[in-house]
Amino acid sequence: MNTRGMDNSPLAFFKAMHGAFDDILAQRRGRPELIEGLLSLAFGSFDGNVEIQSEGQAEVDCRKGCAACCRLRVVATAPEVLLIAGFIRTTAERLRERGIDLAQCVAEADADTRGLSEVERITRRRRCPFIVKGACTIYPVRTLACRGHASHDRRACAAAMAGGDIVIPISQPHLVVRGIVQNAMQSALLDNGYAWGLYELNHALHIALTDDGSRDRWLQGEDVLAPAMIDGLNQQEMMRTFAEIKTQ
Ligand code: SF4
Repeated sequence: MNTRGMDNSPLAFFKAMHGAFDDILAQRRGRPELIEGLLSLAFGSFDGNVEIQSEGQAEVDCRKGCAACCRLRVVATAPEVLLIAGFIRTTAERLRERGIDLAQCVAEADADTRGLSEVERITRRRRCPFIVKGACTIYPVRTLACRGHASHDRRACAAAMAGGDIVIPISQPHLVVRGIVQNAMQSALLDNGYAWGLYELNHALHIALTDDGSRDRWLQGEDVLAPAMIDGLNQQEMMRTFAEIKTQ
C-alpha cells in the first residue's frame, strides 16, 4: 500500500490503510496469524511510503551502532507488543546461549522505569533493554514508534541526550507516515472490536511475557495490556477524530 499514484493526501492514505487493515481483520479474525498480518502490512507500508515521501529530502543519519535515541519512552499498540513478545519467546534459547535473556532484561527495565515521566526517564539515562553492543536485538520487529523516529544529524541526537539544549532535526516523512499508519491501524482495531490503545512498551511486554494467555485473550477482544496504557491518551477524543475522518 503506497501513496504513489494516489492524490498524495494524508486523508486518502489513512483511508486506504484503514481499508487494508479492515480486510486483514476480517480474514484473520481471532486467529494468531492476525498479528503478523497487521504488522506485515504496517511495516511494509511504512517503509514504502517513507521512501516515496523522502524523495529529494536530506539523507537520514541513523546508523547501526548509534542508539542515542533508545533511551526515550517507547509506546506501541497491542499487536506490536504481542509480535515482540512472540519474537522474544522464539529467540530465547538461541540468545541464552550468548548470555542474553531478553525477558529478564524487560523485567528489570520495567521495574526501573514504570511510572516515570518522559523527563524522569531521560534523566535516568537508562537504555532500552533491547540494546546489545549498540544494536537493537529485536530490530526486525521493532515498533512503529522506533521506525518513525529518524534523525538527519546523529551528533545532534547524542548532544541532546547528553543534556544539551539542542533541537534534533527529525525526519518529517518518518514522523508523518508512522502517525498515519499507526492511527489507521488503531481505528481499524477499534471498528473491529479489538483493544486499540497505546501502551508503554516495557510494562506491556512484561505483562505479555508473564501471562501465557495474553495473546489469545487479546484476540478474543480483551484489553489484556490495560495496566500499561500510557497516561494522557484521550481515547474519547481519538474516537471522535477517527469517526470524523471517516465521514470526510
Ligand atoms: S526497540 Fe530497538 S530501536 Fe526501539 S528503542 Fe529499543 S533498541 Fe531502540
